Amino acid sequence: MKCPACKNALHESVVAGVKIQACPGECGGLWINRFQFKKIQALKPGIGQSLLMIERAEGVKTYRGAEHVCPACEITLLHRHFFSTEGDSEVNQCSKCRGFWIDLAGLAKLKSLPADQRRQAVENYFTTVIDVKLSQMRILHNDMAQQAQILTQILQFLCPEDEWTG
Ligand SMILES: [Zn+2]
Ligand SMILES: [Zn+2]
Repeated sequence: MKCPACKNALHESVVAGVKIQACPGECGGLWINRFQFKKIQALKPGIGQSLLMIERAEGVKTYRGAEHVCPACEITLLHRHFFSTEGDSEVNQCSKCRGFWIDLAGLAKLKSLPADQRRQAVENYFTTVIDVKLSQMRILHNDMAQQAQILTQILQFLCPEDEWTG
């Protein structure tokens, strides 16, 4: 399976039984197929934190105007739920196989801030990038609201606000 953003070969990581295809050493993006959603739902938040912190190469740009091709279906273009140049983050989903492509480079970067600045920075990140974008998804229609809920669980799996700031 190839990274939809930088074409690097994806590597499988298994964390708490959840299988993720990651792009380590390049863009650091994560591919999560729909069979993992139920598993993630059953886990405590934060268990997948190591996946967020995988090594990223400097200067690998994932915001390329053009849409990304689904790494699983290969011909379907991923639907972009949101991206933020400022927040250095992107969430895409395949409308056919329902897998998510997630790049939260901006969030991972906040981890290196001094503790006293981190709390506010993470809060701002979640407010501007996550809360606002997810509520836009929720009001579109029911199906999208469901996807927003799954995405929230995935984000909690990768990065609980509490453990980062607490
Ligand atoms: Zn990549
Ligand atoms: Zn697909």
